[in-house]
Amino acid sequence: MTFSRRDFVKTSVLGAVATGVGAHAQNQDDRDGKENPKQNAATQKHDEQSGPHKRPIIVCANNGFNYLEDAFAFLKNGGDTLDAALRVVKGPEDDPNDDTVGLGGIPNEEGVVELDACCMHGPTRRAGSVGGVRNIKNVSLVSKAVMQHTGHVMLVGEGAERFAVAMGFPRENLLTEHSRKIWLLWKEFHSTDDWWGPGLADPHWQPPASDEKPQSEVWQHRIQNLQARAAGLGIAPEHQLAAVRKVLFPPTGTIHCSALNDKGEISGCTTTSGLAFKLPGRCGDSPIIGAGCYTDQDVGSAGATGSGEENIKVAGAHTIVENMRHGMSPHEAGMDALKRIVRNYNSDMNKVRFIDMIYYVLRKDGAYAGVSLWEGYSKGHPHKIAIHDGNRRAEICMSLFKGYSQAFPPFPDIPEDLKNNSEYLK
Ligand code: ASP
Repeated sequence: MTFSRRDFVKTSVLGAVATGVGAHAQNQDDRDGKENPKQNAATQKHDEQSGPHKRPIIVCANNGFNYLEDAFAFLKNGGDTLDAALRVVKGPEDDPNDDTVGLGGIPNEEGVVELDACCMHGPTRRAGSVGGVRNIKNVSLVSKAVMQHTGHVMLVGEGAERFAVAMGFPRENLLTEHSRKIWLLWKEFHSTDDWWGPGLADPHWQPPASDEKPQSEVWQHRIQNLQARAAGLGIAPEHQLAAVRKVLFPPTGTIHCSALNDKGEISGCTTTSGLAFKLPGRCGDSPIIGAGCYTDQDVGSAGATGSGEENIKVAGAHTIVENMRHGMSPHEAGMDALKRIVRNYNSDMNKVRFIDMIYYVLRKDGAYAGVSLWEGYSKGHPHKIAIHDGNRRAEICMSLFKGYSQAFPPFPDIPEDLKNNSEYLK
């Protein structure tokens, strides 16, 4: 309980004033808001790469990679396109170790896991969605149940949970010990104005690091303290730095999947636990038809992961599908939606650097693209799209900008030596 959120914001603002451009020292040259110079050549290549376009095909966020084989076999054998996409996203929902989706998702600020999901079935032109659902793991399937068993499109909160139970979904505790400890570490980290975390009487209590010290030292000190707290909370040594990173850079993570069969039928779905430590009741883009997912049987399908608030404002998935309807390639359509996000901030890179967005785009003829605002969240970890069209693979997304985003809220960079520690990058 050595540092408050205010302390961070202040530090960050001071840093911003000092450098004139922002507190973040990381590769400023790499993040000057210039569009990725390789982009045009890469665009051409990418569009060629995905043609002649194959059907059937499934595309998804890379955390669905391990589940593509089974879903592709199902699709190839005549399975429904939405059911194929749901088979992919159910994998991470069931996996307690994927802390961005379903069971084991990182909780909201009160320590409660709240899930969002939606789906669209192209052949029957139907949609279903659920937001802010507690205690039910497979919300993607609940969104399908809303589509199939109600006259509504969207259910939220307690009503959605009760509907799920009525449909036979089991209630279960979604907060794993792993996620609970990360949440507790976050809670203690942001605590100087309440009674969370060890108090003054604790033998290990330390006063906040002085603002007079160089930024790197302040950060070193904070990270060391956080790591000690992580140990105190019983987080295993090999997971401590990863937990610290999640507290400093609250992670995003979601899975979208679109599936197209050989007849040209297409569907999509998206599911998430949303932003880590969000306000209770917050719904992101994932359950919003047209933002987190949109499918039009005449055109194609698109979905998103990343900064949900930004994606809602540009109705990202719908924008992309409409762009393709008007003749853009999947790549161009996705890039245009990304540019709209940048436009909403008047291209102010001191703000855009804290946003990230990845779009997964699939056209009805089998052409696809994975595009992102930035290259990745950190060096060596590029954003990827996973594909199965008979050949399962992951491809690096084409980014609008060169460089790496920084998650919001805006913390200064972590020291180089620790940043390169692979434990941080998990
Ligand atoms: N888009 C999700 C949300 O805002 C988060 C994510 O994709 O990581 O809830």
